[in-house]
Amino acid sequence: MTSKSLKEFNTFGVDVNAKAFIEIDSIARLKEEITKGISKPYFVLGGGSNILFTKDYEGTVLKNNVKEFTILRENKKMVHLAVGAGNDWHETVMKCVEKGWGGIENLSLIPGSVGAAPIQNIGAYGCELEQVLLAVSYINLETGEEHKIGRDDCQFGYRDSIFKNELKGKAFIYRVELKLNKEPKLNTKYGDIKAKLKDFGVKEPSIADVSRAIIEIRQSKLPDPKELGNSGSFFKNPVVSRQQFREVQASYDGEVRHFKVPDGIKIPAGWLIEQAGLKGKKYGNTGMHAKQALVLVNYGGATGTELIETAKEVQKQVFDTFGIMLEMEVNVW
Ligand SMILES: Cc1cc2nc3c(=O)[nH]c(=O)nc-3n(C[C@H](O)[C@H](O)[C@H](O)COP(=O)(O)OP(=O)(O)OC[C@H]3O[C@@H](n4cnc5c(N)ncnc54)[C@H](O)[C@@H]3O)c2cc1C
Repeated sequence: MTSKSLKEFNTFGVDVNAKAFIEIDSIARLKEEITKGISKPYFVLGGGSNILFTKDYEGTVLKNNVKEFTILRENKKMVHLAVGAGNDWHETVMKCVEKGWGGIENLSLIPGSVGAAPIQNIGAYGCELEQVLLAVSYINLETGEEHKIGRDDCQFGYRDSIFKNELKGKAFIYRVELKLNKEPKLNTKYGDIKAKLKDFGVKEPSIADVSRAIIEIRQSKLPDPKELGNSGSFFKNPVVSRQQFREVQASYDGEVRHFKVPDGIKIPAGWLIEQAGLKGKKYGNTGMHAKQALVLVNYGGATGTELIETAKEVQKQVFDTFGIMLEMEVNVW
């Protein structure tokens, strides 16, 4: 087997090689490989938009390319869809928006594949995948067995699921089932969305209006990975206890930005990074983006090691300033 460059397969644009690279376009193909014996270690790759490679991968990359778009059930109010894990997430959203099926319009323009969406329960603008997900089908890479689990068994949390824990590295997700609504209650509560809709002169927005608003907001705030290597938010927003929040607030001159969530107080990681003086700060060919402090950027030619060193420096400086250790959202290999 020949090694393959992963430069085109990760949105950071990091140039590393994989020892082996297999494209999986069907379940039958995957089963064939499992029967032959996939050389270990291995991992599943989608669009590479939530991965930071820090070195060559001395194993097998299973590039997921399983495509499908099937209506399983439909009535006047809803549609139950099965989407192949290899379908592009944003293209899937656009297809649903065009058809007037609501529920994922706030997740417009999130890069990556459909199969990776449940891994970290993708979310944006007040919506998370778990709100529309019915089931996930996967193949256990160790046994070759097929499984289908419902939403309640996915153990969804904030950028978390069973696939990042108990099933980490074991599941090849090949299909995601969604329930979308033909008469959806649109979520436009975010100030940015309201302002955009006002700009459009829209008083009673449609699913397509909300999607368009989200796309324009994201394009104005987030760097396009095709132009500037990045993987979106690099860190999770930390959730601290009320006691810890009081301590952070007491030691900070000014108001600490925060939101109440069921399990404590959420502080925006981007705000913490900005207050630590790191927004727009460059370290060689890397740095935190000037418009969005939460986005770690490859300004060109940076290695994965350089990027991870910058991420660790940001963690250190935020910890020194606020006593909060930021957790990485991106998968580091
Ligand atoms: C500009 C930008 C903006 C972003 N904005 C958001 C946002 O608003 N909200 C958000 O939640 N995320 C966001 N992200 C992160 C990213 O787009 C999502 O996490 C996306 O779901 C990753 O999909 P992917 O196919 O690229 O996954 P990859 O990066 O290829 O993989 C991510 C992880 O999932 C595993 N995996 C992938 N596919 C499968 C599969 N079929 N079966 C089993 N395991 C699999 C991989 O092994 C890896 O551990 C953003 C990223 C970028 C670059």
